[in-house]
Parts: sequence; C-alpha cells; structure tokens
Amino acid sequence: MNANTITLRCGQSRIHLLSDGTSYWDGGGTFGLVPRVRWMKLLPPDDLNRVPQELRCVLIEADGKHILVDCGVGNKPNDLIATQYDVRRPRGTLLDDLARCGLRPADIDIVIFTHLHGDHSGWATTLDEKTQYTGEEAAPERSPAPTFANARYYVQRQEYEDATHPNERTRNTYFAENFVPLMRFGVLTLLDGEAQITSSVRVVPTPGHTAGHQSVIVESASTDEPAPPVFLIGDMAPFMIHFERLPWVTAYDVLPMVTIETKRRWQSWAFERGAALVSCHDTRQPVGRLARNDKGLFSVIPLETGGAAE
Ligand SMILES: [Zn+2]
Repeated sequence: MNANTITLRCGQSRIHLLSDGTSYWDGGGTFGLVPRVRWMKLLPPDDLNRVPQELRCVLIEADGKHILVDCGVGNKPNDLIATQYDVRRPRGTLLDDLARCGLRPADIDIVIFTHLHGDHSGWATTLDEKTQYTGEEAAPERSPAPTFANARYYVQRQEYEDATHPNERTRNTYFAENFVPLMRFGVLTLLDGEAQITSSVRVVPTPGHTAGHQSVIVESASTDEPAPPVFLIGDMAPFMIHFERLPWVTAYDVLPMVTIETKRRWQSWAFERGAALVSCHDTRQPVGRLARNDKGLFSVIPLETGGAAE
C-alpha cells in the first residue's frame, strides 16, 4: 500500500483510507443549527463560508475479499455535486488511489454504500463509451454501467426506495444514474436491517442522516487475536465533532432527532469497545477513538501509537 494511505488493522483484516478528493460545502449545511461563531473556531471557513470535506472511501481487505465502502463523487459530467461543490483532486480520483494500492476496478469484490447521496455513490457507475461516435451525427447515448464489474453492491432497501423516490428536499442529493443501473445489471443487493457481509464485516442501520443510512463494522473473527472493532460511521457523523456532540447535526439530515438517538446508542457502543472510528468527511481527524472526561463528555482522541494504526 502507498505511504500516503492511513491503514488500520483489525485481526487479519486491513482497512485502508482512500479519497476521491476534497470538496467545499457551505458551513451552515455541515453544522446545521450550530451557530457559525461556535463552529468557525474548530473549522475556519473560506471567504464563501465553505468548509473542506474529504470525499473519503474505504478499502477493506478481509476474508480474502476486496471491499469498498462508498465511492466518492465519480466523474459524470452532469453530476451537480462534482460541478457545484468545487471538488479538488491533487492526488487524482478514487480510481487513482486504488491503483496506488495495486488494484484495478475489476479487483473489487464487494461495494457497500452507507447511503446513496451523490458524494458517496459517484464511482458506482461510469458512462459506457462502447458506442462509436463518428463526429458527424449527434453524440451517442452514453449509458452508465457498473465501474466495479465483478462486484456485488449492497445498500439498505429503505435507502434505495428513498433514493428512487426523492422529494423536493432530497432531489438534488440523489443521482439515479449512480445506482439505478446497478439494479438493471442485477448486481445490487437490497438489505433489510443488520447484515453480515463477510465473516469479519457487517453493516448496521444508523438512521437519521437518511432513513436508510447504514454504518460498517469490521471485527476480528479470531478469539486468539482479540482486537477492538473498526467502525466506519459514515454520515451518521460526517466529522468527528458530530460524533462527540449529540446536538451537532448537519442541515442535510432528513431525520435530525433520529440522528441524535442513533448517535447516543452508537457512542456508547464504540466507547465500551474502544472502537477505532473512521470518518467519511473529516479532513483533520480521519481516525480516532472516543474518550470520556469526568463530566461524562465524549471527545475523539488519536488512536494510540503502536495500537490499531499501522
Ligand atoms: Zn450524505
């Protein structure tokens, strides 16, 4: 694996943090009801009031499989997120990061979506350019096909339903061409609640950001080698500060009160197990674990040196 990649381990599994670039989002969207005077001290905005958000994707090597969790904004030219949110890619795209790990798209066995928002499902499909274009007539239809041609994709059924029936508020967060073709190609499995994906990797429903949002847990299958789990929290808490503080919920969450209850439950779960947390958007604190002070308040602290991080 390349030197720029953070890698965690959990028993025999390896968890590599990859990226599809950095995007810039309105700070009011990221921090919802929290006043700017409070969040700006932690994450200073630029002169357009935007804060950087990593487009993090995670590669898990577990049980002989290459598992990708979330897949960035992708490269479709009409993707609003890619054009509107100022995506910067000094190191290239997710596919470049995979190549640095020695992997081609065809080497991915499993793709898990935390949810189907455009910044998490972009590379799921790419536009097929098989049709020859002579340059004389109108450009041919370029239809999206699965990027990871040998992979089975997993998402919660609730999420797929909501993404394919968006409302006025959610319409600009879902792009059908990222996920509907997966169904047409017969490679998408719809999950109903918690599910074991491989013997070390499972998904758990973590509703709130969207009703069908899920998070991913990597656990050591071996009792000889006990290890704290690795918890990919997803947009349940896009920055670590959202996981520390229950009322810090983004303006994008469709069920904010549900997010708070979800976080309350999984904060305790992660703290009790000393779980290594992986954030999907935090540029400054990609990984950490929960600590608690004498007042009972949580904070995310670095993983111990020589601990889970490699
Ligand atoms: Zn989202």
